[in-house]
Amino acid sequence: QTTIINGFNNNTTTTPPHVVIVPLMAQGHIIPMLDMARLLAERGVLVTFITTPVNASRIKPIIARMHESNLHINFIELPFPCAEAGLPLGCENCDLLPSKDLVVNFFDAIRLFDHSIEQRLKDLVPRPTCMINDMSNPWAANVARSLNIRRLVFHGPSCIYIYCSYVCQQHKIYETVTDEFEEISVPGLADNDDDVVGQSFKVCKLHAPGWFNAPGFEKLRDEILHAEETTDGVVMNTFHDVEPMFVEAYKKVIGKDVWTVGPLCLYDKDDFCARIERGNKAAVDPEKLFGWLESMEERSVLYVSFGSLTRMNVGQILEIGSGLEASGVPLLWVIKDVEKSPEVEEWLKGFEQRMSLRSFVINGWAPQAAILSHKSVGGFVSHCGWNSTLEAVSNGVPMITWPQFADQFLNGRLVVELLRIGIAIGVKKPAFYYGKDEIPVKKDDVERAVRSLMGDGEEAEERRIRAIEIKKKAIKAMEEGGSSYENITRLVEYIKHEPGKDVQGTQV
Ligand code: UDP
Repeated sequence: QTTIINGFNNNTTTTPPHVVIVPLMAQGHIIPMLDMARLLAERGVLVTFITTPVNASRIKPIIARMHESNLHINFIELPFPCAEAGLPLGCENCDLLPSKDLVVNFFDAIRLFDHSIEQRLKDLVPRPTCMINDMSNPWAANVARSLNIRRLVFHGPSCIYIYCSYVCQQHKIYETVTDEFEEISVPGLADNDDDVVGQSFKVCKLHAPGWFNAPGFEKLRDEILHAEETTDGVVMNTFHDVEPMFVEAYKKVIGKDVWTVGPLCLYDKDDFCARIERGNKAAVDPEKLFGWLESMEERSVLYVSFGSLTRMNVGQILEIGSGLEASGVPLLWVIKDVEKSPEVEEWLKGFEQRMSLRSFVINGWAPQAAILSHKSVGGFVSHCGWNSTLEAVSNGVPMITWPQFADQFLNGRLVVELLRIGIAIGVKKPAFYYGKDEIPVKKDDVERAVRSLMGDGEEAEERRIRAIEIKKKAIKAMEEGGSSYENITRLVEYIKHEPGKDVQGTQV
């Protein structure tokens, strides 16, 4: 049965450019892909966005805004095959998984979308002309092939990670490596013999490609590589000036169009209301939260949050809290609902009393992009998810880097070693290497890093200056004439000009 997209039931004989976006159902992927959808729609592209009931309900206010502003984004809600994949009912987003042992099941569930997506897209009017699939959905390549439409891959992670993982796998560098910590030079980074940074940059197997090396992911990893080789082009949520060495090297090895279109988090930088609605409903009254931030001195508050997926054990939470308290710095700390336990709650009662006006604790989803753009925030303790990193970079906020898995270790190194706007807390092993109750970072390490980051020493000041410089570059990239803005223009042109059709979409 044909589905005519609202507002496009016109009688023209031409097909408007129509792109289908297939995100991975995870916050760090849906949020930037939705920003991209809005940017493309603003530039005249009709967008169909694949989602599921739970994920759609989280972004209801954003969807309502899009409709109000007549942005042509059509949402297709597909039932999520939880039961078929052995997942609890309603487990439609990575951050809802009750255990990391179910990650493979989650990827299996998403894969089951292929048939239903194909059916729904086949029957859509106007017909889609291009697909952009999250890199973690390689099965979407078959759907695009069967619909005979062009396909682009969207990379949510940083280019430093994508390049290092790609090139190390391409050169089969790890096949002879037995020690996962062994540091290996990354090929293709040094332009010439004088390029010291490029020549000396090394990675280990544990950090790139990291968790995709773990048992159970071999098939997915190979499919992702294959889908990247067969894609027509690549869209990345990054900008040239934040990681130029890696963007240039990646463009060379991939040999096809690469559009860097970020930081996508700047999409709604001038719209405070939209910013506090990103991703999910905030677990805090925005008036209370931003009232508190307003009452604090400029750049005095440390924001502490570890993204949507990382979960700390009780011991680690208490150790963080004790270190933060000892630092004497005002703080805004996010603790997820799933991290709460009677022990944590009991401890927090005393903590909040002792810290009084100097602390604000959020239990659950925080309006992070809005927080990081507030003038009172002067530092960020982060797990270095790429979105969080870009949000810090775009707002000129120096970081304490505490990576957990995936691209986060290399993102942390970008922040500390190359951009020099951060301090590393010092963890080297991914979170799943530690025992359930192990505490990788002690109170003293937290206190020391916080004092250095938030202090007024020369190093801290220089870090702040560099953070403001990169913020300016991020904003410039997204403004007319900037590298990402122009890449979006090129991407839109690509989507509009289907091979074998004229500019109006008529067959030639
Ligand atoms: N986020 C948020 N509030 C939270 C937790 C996360 O707004 O309480 C957002 C954050 O701003 C970022 C995304 O969710 O845009 C998380 O993506 P990231 O790549 O940083 O980390 P992940 O959650 O994928 O580990």
